[in-house]
Amino acid sequence: MTAQTHQFMCLSDNFGLLIHDPVTGKTAAVDVPEAAPVLAAAKEKGWTISHILVTHHHADHVQGIAEVKQATGARVVANGADAHRIPLVDEKVAPGGKATFGSLAADIIDTPGHTVGHINYHFPTDRILASGDTLFSLGCGRLFEGTPGGMWEALKVLRALPDDTRVFCGHEYTASNAKFAVTADPDNAALKARAEEVAKLREAGLPTLPTTIGREKATNPFLRADDAAIAATLGMAGRPAAEVFAELRERKNKA
Ligand code: ZN
Ligand code: FE
Repeated sequence: MTAQTHQFMCLSDNFGLLIHDPVTGKTAAVDVPEAAPVLAAAKEKGWTISHILVTHHHADHVQGIAEVKQATGARVVANGADAHRIPLVDEKVAPGGKATFGSLAADIIDTPGHTVGHINYHFPTDRILASGDTLFSLGCGRLFEGTPGGMWEALKVLRALPDDTRVFCGHEYTASNAKFAVTADPDNAALKARAEEVAKLREAGLPTLPTTIGREKATNPFLRADDAAIAATLGMAGRPAAEVFAELRERKNKA
């Protein structure tokens, strides 16, 4: 049997995500932006949270951990390198290793950039990627601690995952990302179509996530920094992809 997912909103624009293993009944919450909606979502599904998989230490991803742990006894799984700044870590994982709960196993992918200790959880059998604040739909996380080069390398690893991988990210930022994306890649028909779809979804109050790796490869300028058309649009024809990526991120910061 395959993993079941449940995505819901927390705070103003954070996503909560539950991943449920129907074989063993175990359930992981990916980050806890706030406890109440995470506990309510689990109750609504009839699931009991057994694990909390943390992507990174920012408050809007960890501030509900203590309350959910107290309510459920969940085990907190996080990057060992960041355990000093993530609350109540029970299980330290490392990039290249795995996080397991019930019959499900996630590969831990190193995704420095937004923060240096940021990790992604990839469930290859179920084609699920929990990308935190690394990969967004039509965007990527702001570089608070890492370098553009490190983030670009991480995004290339994510880009190489199977096209039908469903991407669950930390925030509903797609509409604002779309506005910038069309300026960076104005002749991309797939991007234009996605931007229109996003506008309709948001008008209807619906989420734009999850997305897929295949769709992001076709539309997300931050996964396309090695595309000649984007380099040309930025006036950077022939420049290395990492430099084009850095410029994209810089321009998005100012947009
Ligand atoms: Zn963050
Ligand atoms: Fe965040």
